[in-house]
Amino acid sequence: MSQSPKIVPCPTCGEAIVWDRQARWRPFCSERCRLIDLGEWLSEERCLPAEDEPWSAGEADEDPSPGAPS
Ligand SMILES: [Zn+2]
Repeated sequence: MSQSPKIVPCPTCGEAIVWDRQARWRPFCSERCRLIDLGEWLSEERCLPAEDEPWSAGEADEDPSPGAPS
C-alpha cells in the first residue's frame, strides 16, 4: 500500500522527476532532455564504426568492392 510517488533523476540533467502517469517524458524530465539523450546515443552509434575501422591500418589496400565504375 505505498502510494508515495517514485522520484527518479533525469538521466540527462539530473533533475528529480516524479515517476507517475503524468510524467510524460519519463524517465526524462522533458522532451528536450529526451531528445538530447537520444541524439547523444545516435551520435555514439555513428562514431563507433569510424573509429573501429579495420581498413585504416594499412593492411588492406585493396578495395573490397569489385568492379568500381571508372
Ligand atoms: Zn532533464
